[in-house]
Amino acid sequence: MLAQKTAEQAKVREHTRQPDVKLFINGQFTESESGVYFDNPSPFTNETINRVAEGRKEDIDKAAQAANKAFKEGPWGKMKVSERMKYIERIADLIDEEAEELSYLESLDTGLPIAQTRNMAARAAENFRFYSRMVQTRMHGEAYMQNSEFVNYTVYNPLGVVGLITPWNAPFMLTTWKVAPALATGNTVVLKPAELSPLTANKLAEIIQKAELPEGVFNIVHGFGETAGASLVAHPSVEAISFTGETVTGSVIIKNSADTLKKTSMELGGKSPLIVFDDADFDRALDAAVWGLFSFNGERCTANSRVFLHKNIKEKFVEALKQRVQNIKVGDPMDSSTQLGPLIDKGHFEKVKGYIEIAKEEGCEVIQGMVPEKFKAGNYVPPTLLLNAANDMRVAQEEIFGPVMAVIEFETEEEVIQAANDVKYGLAGYVWTNDIKRGHRVAQAVDAGMLWINAQNVRDLRIPFGGTKASGIGREGGHYAILEFYTEPKVIHVAIGDHHIPQFGK
Ligand code: NAD
Repeated sequence: MLAQKTAEQAKVREHTRQPDVKLFINGQFTESESGVYFDNPSPFTNETINRVAEGRKEDIDKAAQAANKAFKEGPWGKMKVSERMKYIERIADLIDEEAEELSYLESLDTGLPIAQTRNMAARAAENFRFYSRMVQTRMHGEAYMQNSEFVNYTVYNPLGVVGLITPWNAPFMLTTWKVAPALATGNTVVLKPAELSPLTANKLAEIIQKAELPEGVFNIVHGFGETAGASLVAHPSVEAISFTGETVTGSVIIKNSADTLKKTSMELGGKSPLIVFDDADFDRALDAAVWGLFSFNGERCTANSRVFLHKNIKEKFVEALKQRVQNIKVGDPMDSSTQLGPLIDKGHFEKVKGYIEIAKEEGCEVIQGMVPEKFKAGNYVPPTLLLNAANDMRVAQEEIFGPVMAVIEFETEEEVIQAANDVKYGLAGYVWTNDIKRGHRVAQAVDAGMLWINAQNVRDLRIPFGGTKASGIGREGGHYAILEFYTEPKVIHVAIGDHHIPQFGK
């Protein structure tokens, strides 16, 4: 059975045209009010994969209304937690059943290598199971005995309708990372997926329909940011927006949510440093630097796009990096042996290539791997090293979001901390040293939400995820998502005796 599955997975699947995708509102797949569809391009060929119903303000209104009705009148928020968790766990089981198809759709839509999207489907299922456990064990209030006459207690209630706005990078994993806690805590949801990656969001709607969630609990409106996204942000029935995407978009969303005083969570861009001291475990640091930037096509928020090398090891490390970059297997995302695929769309491809030109103008030496000629129709940028970069160059300051690594030399600890922090972002950071004190010291000093010492991007789902500075506001993950974002605490003060009430005007 296992051997059969492996053989099946090893087959290179074709890039096939997919059925049109509709909106999902009140438990039904539905046309948009305008009836307009937009084309979804393939990163591999730039031909149309399928057409997507374009939702706009009127569709957001319908979805928000359905979600509001489901929250206020439906059974979702009122059912026993254990009952609600049966639905959540059913979704996880159905994701597992569809794992191979989900990773196929994800790779088809985004160009991410299928060997990497396979892990994402399993992680997405775990997102639901994890939040089922979290809600059952952590979503509880506290009681405070003030004195013999008073007890106060807190309860955590769902917010109501929450709007989730997601990006095109790692879309299924990131979408389920929001949908799972939002639903598990008893909210109802309107999801606006990225216009460039609608396929796995649509599959999630099919799964949720199959899991028989009550109507209106989960809704999807596909469409563009300035129309569908902006309408969701401005909608008076939507209580909160959880957003993952670019920093500039995050600012616009915060501004646009001000009129309706929405709670917002912002997971934004990054330009994360990876610092290698001369006493580091060389081979492990090298593996981590290469994986941390070139996996997921470099389209990853926590990518170590700035690599700081101590001057004593710089030459040797750069030589090793050059070799590794030449060996990265660039190929068809459907081929299990591919390590780097095409970028999401032509616009992003041009942007990343533009940064490589800027790097040349800024004086970097550019070293690149190979893209086989047969893939020239796709949005392929070869794995790229920008050598002799300086931290004040644009290519070291701006988020490129592709397979492009800026390599910067440093001499002292103070200097590298200063440079690591001299950037507007603060999402992640990686420190490689065998000096235990220095590891902790530097991790403390680097201004970012998440630091790793002698480790790549491994995560325990219980920890808070998020960034500082222009990388975000708030934390998702762990109990932070359920107690600090998707619920609201309420305090109830109860008199259990006849306490003194001040006599006023008697
Ligand atoms: P993006 O900001 O262009 O788009 C994200 C989503 O916002 C899309 O669904 C888009 O349609 C929507 N949107 C755009 N304008 C809007 C508006 N005015 N109102 C409401 N919605 C709007 O981001 P992207 O290019 O899809 O994703 C890549 C970015 O996401 C990178 O900057 C990356 O670092 C960041 N990211 C951050 C994290 C994190 O956890 N910090 C994780 C993944 C990606």
